[in-house]
Amino acid sequence: MARFGMAIDTRRCVGCMDCVAACKTENDVPEGFNRDWITQELRGRFPTLSLEIRSERCNHCDDAPCVSCCPTGASHVHPFGQVVLVDHEACIGCKACVASCPYGARFIHPEGYADKCTFCIHRVREGQDPACVAVCPTHCMHFGDLDDPNSEISALLASRAHHAVLPEAGTRPRIFYLT
Ligand code: SF4
Ligand code: SF4
Ligand code: SF4
Repeated sequence: MARFGMAIDTRRCVGCMDCVAACKTENDVPEGFNRDWITQELRGRFPTLSLEIRSERCNHCDDAPCVSCCPTGASHVHPFGQVVLVDHEACIGCKACVASCPYGARFIHPEGYADKCTFCIHRVREGQDPACVAVCPTHCMHFGDLDDPNSEISALLASRAHHAVLPEAGTRPRIFYLT
């Protein structure tokens, strides 16, 4: 069984927000909400400063509190790539998952259900990359199977320094930032 994840090269990301626009269009994300966003983190002290620009979204955590806290089972891990998804019909909009996510990755859709990044599972099933990955003009995002030692993402993570966001939250995120 595949275990999908992303490796995003912070040396190539220019913060153009094409990934954000692509996601909104592809997934019909309602006005005022986002499934992905850009974070800028300034590190160091003048004059040795560095700026990391990150395209962030749901981390499809291996140990996802949004799944374990859901009272109806609407939030679940899909067998296809172990993607964390929400069953819109089963969701009662209680917001427990929204509160449990340390990444602020979820929101309540105006139609009443919890929503977030789906890793564009509808595209991946058709052999395509997620919309945000496909549209990136600097090709800084790499999507694939973390459990396949021969995948591009596994090779990148084996050869490049990387980190996740908020690993201390203990959710075992699956989005990695190459540095
Ligand atoms: Fe759940 Fe948040 Fe992890 Fe996504 S990032 S799987 S919404 S805890
Ligand atoms: Fe589950 Fe929906 Fe409540 Fe989230 S808002 S915990 S998906 S029932
Ligand atoms: Fe949006 Fe799809 Fe990218 Fe997730 S994988 S941020 S749903 S475009």
